[in-house]
Formats: sequence, structure tokens, C-alpha cells
Amino acid sequence: QQEYLRKPDWLKIKINTSDSYKGLKKLMRDKRLNTVCEEARCPNLHECWSERQTATFMILGDTCTRGCRFCAVKTGLPNELDWGEPERVADSVKIMGLKHVVITAVARDDLKDGGAAVFAETVRQVRKKNPGTTIEILPSDMKGDYESLHTLMSSEPDIFNHNIETVRRLTKRVRAIAKYDRSLELLQRVKNIAPNTPTKSSMMVGLGETKEEILEAMDDLLAHDVDILTIGQYLQPTKKHLNVERYYHPDEFKELEQIALEKGFTHCKSGPLVRSSYHADEQVTAAAAQ
Ligand code: SF4
Ligand code: SF4
Repeated sequence: QQEYLRKPDWLKIKINTSDSYKGLKKLMRDKRLNTVCEEARCPNLHECWSERQTATFMILGDTCTRGCRFCAVKTGLPNELDWGEPERVADSVKIMGLKHVVITAVARDDLKDGGAAVFAETVRQVRKKNPGTTIEILPSDMKGDYESLHTLMSSEPDIFNHNIETVRRLTKRVRAIAKYDRSLELLQRVKNIAPNTPTKSSMMVGLGETKEEILEAMDDLLAHDVDILTIGQYLQPTKKHLNVERYYHPDEFKELEQIALEKGFTHCKSGPLVRSSYHADEQVTAAAAQ
């Protein structure tokens, strides 16, 4: 039985109970939608939602066919596909008045196309009803099915994001079904399909990786033409999930950010509470300025 590390002060956050937060929570229930912001009890919720910067919608249901050992989303056999979901997401983006939206999905390994058709339809509907909102997609690896990737890319997202989550050595332990090289290949294929679409990936630290391994992962992403990187502290969602092996100091995150930029990423956000979609709106602006 491993001892639990004490959470450092910089990770202690206030829970949001403002009226605007409650209103948005109600909107999600009324529209029968799921957000990563809520599911993952994201520490940045107050900032993202109340400033109407961004939100991360999790589509294709609330049940994932995979069971990654860091992730709080429930695992099981998902429900039928919901073709009304794209429009409800689009309406909610409008009501929230978001500058930027991230659309992610549970992995739907039960479907032949991994849910790509509904995913692409969601992007289209969101764009139609929110022409001023930038759209970032964060799909699973769709088990390396490139027909599905083409379906997805036909919706022309503003940013394509796919997380490698951790370093090569720990991938098997941390992620279910996904493979480190398959994720890299997916990111490269997106660049080949749409050379002007910025690609992005995210890594959690604190799972037992070494600094050398983090730098190697940065090199691997750059070798696959990834433009944007985010790095954040892994936080254990429940005691059943992987333990936190180490809490990195904010200065160490700063150093990683510096290294990433020196190595060649066009944009990098690295910090204890940084999540894949944190301040993502700034990344689109930065990428567009390249
Ligand atoms: Fe939601 Fe991402 Fe913001 Fe967290 S950082 S509240 S998941 S948009
Ligand atoms: Fe969570 Fe893994 Fe499913 Fe993504 S694929 S929702 S990280 S369990």
C-alpha cells in the first residue's frame, strides 16, 4: 500500500458556486450534455466558464468503451448514438457565448467509425450557429482508422488536438488501448491532410516519468509536426486511479515550458493546473499569427 503524497498548496482551489456557474450547470442538464469541465471537476472551471472563454463538451454519451487509469469518465457499454446532440451542443455554445469551444468525445470502440460522423456533424452545427467561435476537436485515436479521421477532418476544425497523455514507457500503464506511436502517427496524418491546421497535444506529469522522458516525448511530438503543447500536473480523481508519484513545483513547469518553446513548439502552456483546453482560445490566436 503506497502512501499518498500530500497535495501542495498551489493545487488547493476554491469550488465554484457562483450563480452564473449554477445557471450553466442547469443548461447542461436541460440540454442533456456532458462537459469535461464538470466530469473532471476541472480546477479552472470558474475562470473558463464565467469569462465565457471556453468549455469542453464531451459528446457521444457519458460512457467510454475504454478505462484509462487516470480518467474519471465511467466505463461500460455506451447508449445508442444521439443525432440530436450536435444541434444541442451548437445551441449551448451560443447561449454561453463562447469565444472558443473544445469538442471531445468518449472513445466509441463499439462503433465502426468510432463516432466520427456525429463528431463531424457537431463541428458543422457549432460553426453554422456560431460563426465567430473557434472550434478545437480532441478525438480519441479511433483505433487508427483513417477513414474515420478523414470524416472528422472534413469538418475543418480550427485546431486538432490529440493527447499523448504521458511518456512512451508509461503509456501502457496509464492509457487503455491507445498506443504511443499510434497517437503520434495520427497527429502526423492530420498535418498531412490539413497542413494549415494547427495540431496540439497534452501531457500529464507526476505519473513517475523522468525529465529525460518528458524531453523525449517533446522531441517525438515535434518530429510529427505538432505545433502546440500543454503540460499539467496529474491529479488522482479517486483512490482507485493511479497514484500521484510526484507533485512538480510551478518553477519546474515554467522550465518545461521554456524548453518546449526553445525546442520549437509555437505555443506551450505548462503549469500545475494547466489542462488540455486551458486558455485554448489564446493558442488559436497565436497559431493564426504564425
Ligand atoms: Fe473546461 Fe478545459 Fe476550462 Fe477545464 S480548462 S474548465 S476542462 S475548458
Ligand atoms: Fe477517459 Fe480514456 Fe475514455 Fe478518454 S479514452 S474518456 S481518457 S477512459
